[in-house]
Amino acid sequence: MKYPKLRELAEAIKAVIKGPYTSKFPFDPHEPHQNFRGQPTFDPDRCLGCLACEEACPSSAISHEDILEGPGAPRRVMIHYTDDCIFCGVCVDACIRETGDTGIVQTTDWELSFFDRSKAFETIEKELQLCEVCGVVIGTKDHLIWIAEKLGELSFSNPTLYLTRLRELGLADNNIKGVLEDKGRSDRIKILCAECRRKTTFYDEGRT
Ligand code: SF4
Ligand code: SF4
Repeated sequence: MKYPKLRELAEAIKAVIKGPYTSKFPFDPHEPHQNFRGQPTFDPDRCLGCLACEEACPSSAISHEDILEGPGAPRRVMIHYTDDCIFCGVCVDACIRETGDTGIVQTTDWELSFFDRSKAFETIEKELQLCEVCGVVIGTKDHLIWIAEKLGELSFSNPTLYLTRLRELGLADNNIKGVLEDKGRSDRIKILCAECRRKTTFYDEGRT
């Protein structure tokens, strides 16, 4: 007869006293370990809509759509496809916000079965900032404000950043209009994309 090893015997006694390690799911609810890596979810108040997580996601489970016309426009819709997600946590690590304050957080949710795959996504929305001359997307307002706050007084070297911040504080006019033939100078104190900023800075007499 083969006798159990001492360690196995100790485990068996422990299991008799403490009860089994496994849970009786689905008859009893299962409580995952606090460090369990379950389904991530956006935090709409913290997410800046910067797209760093979308770039980093190895399974393309994060996407976005910029809506430039219609009600609520311009806005960026951040989409997390929960059925494509592999719960790897790369998006949380890639988030530009500090650890513990990230725009996407990993929950301990694990019971995720569903019947209709077309409903397997979550979305949040962010207001977009467009170039005030050509109308291209610069980024989300929250992202620009976050950068301006990070840079502090250094943001005053970039009109797009300091104007975004000042407007949020209600300290800058929204409708700066050039009333004179000023060769584009009034455009300098607008929120501009990089290309329009270059054009206003390096004014070319021959430009169209
Ligand atoms: S947990 Fe991984 S797969 Fe899921 S959204 Fe984040 S990066 Fe993508
Ligand atoms: S703030 Fe974080 S969660 Fe939001 S888009 Fe950027 S990287 Fe993704």
